[in-house]
Amino acid sequence: MEKLSNPKKTIEIIQKYGFDFQKRFGQNFLIDSHVLEKIIEAANITKDDFVLEIGPGIGTMTQYLAEHAREVMAVEIDGNLIPILEDTLSEYDNVSVLNQDILKVDIGAIAKEKNDGKPIKVVANLPYYITTPIIMGLFESKVPMDSITVMVQKEVASRMQVGPGTKEYGALSLAVQYYAKPYIVANVPPNCFMPRPKVGSAVIRLTKYQKPPVTVKDEKLLFQLIRASFNQRRKTLQNGINNSNLNFSKQQVVDALDTMGISPTIRGEALTLEQFARLSDLLYESK
Ligand code: SAM
Repeated sequence: MEKLSNPKKTIEIIQKYGFDFQKRFGQNFLIDSHVLEKIIEAANITKDDFVLEIGPGIGTMTQYLAEHAREVMAVEIDGNLIPILEDTLSEYDNVSVLNQDILKVDIGAIAKEKNDGKPIKVVANLPYYITTPIIMGLFESKVPMDSITVMVQKEVASRMQVGPGTKEYGALSLAVQYYAKPYIVANVPPNCFMPRPKVGSAVIRLTKYQKPPVTVKDEKLLFQLIRASFNQRRKTLQNGINNSNLNFSKQQVVDALDTMGISPTIRGEALTLEQFARLSDLLYESK
């Protein structure tokens, strides 16, 4: 079959099945072969790999993945796309499609069954309305994973990559960088999709760390502190933490900051991951 990355082929399939794009599922299908090749290259897919694709749509990227990987599993929520995928992927015997909501799938069980519990690769042109829950869900579930290579909203890609002192820096930057090394592979303009999204997009590769770059006594506390610090961005760290439901007094925060040689009026947006980790341990010890 001719590749679906050819816009004419995509239109032909959409018309053949009378498919209606669902905005609520974030359906913007890729129609640019260069972008698809870039994603495959950045994900470094080989014939040893088991790849999980989130949201195959009509199977445009799945065709590329099937050609490069040992095995692909594609999870698609929209039941109307299932018969289409049966057609567009009929030439490939190494692809299976699961009609489910990715947020409800036990990915750990899939990795165990399909890849002997070895690290999987996740590749997707993500539905933008659930980018963060998908990525954080993958990291927090502790699924054995080599990397996540995904198309996301451009602004979200830069939030994942930046460090302190920039206005995009926040809880997402710290959470992602605790688990993985981010690298923005390419910016992708709206005309590479059908229909065109209203926002710019970017491909980002998140290479999972074997071990987080910082070690803390209580991981949950670290994430609670990060969230509390950015919930009220304009507040000082001591006020942000004090106004959250964490049980630390302003004095405890000031004392911890003092031990770290940091001004008591600092805001969370100025702290590195290493500093958040140290603060977390000092507060943990002060309990
Ligand atoms: N991979 C295709 C491509 O690049 O052309 C489609 C990408 S489109 C941006 C996102 C896809 O994710 C759609 O097919 C949509 O139906 C699917 N999707 C949306 N929410 C989902 C969910 N919760 N679980 C699984 N798939 C979902």
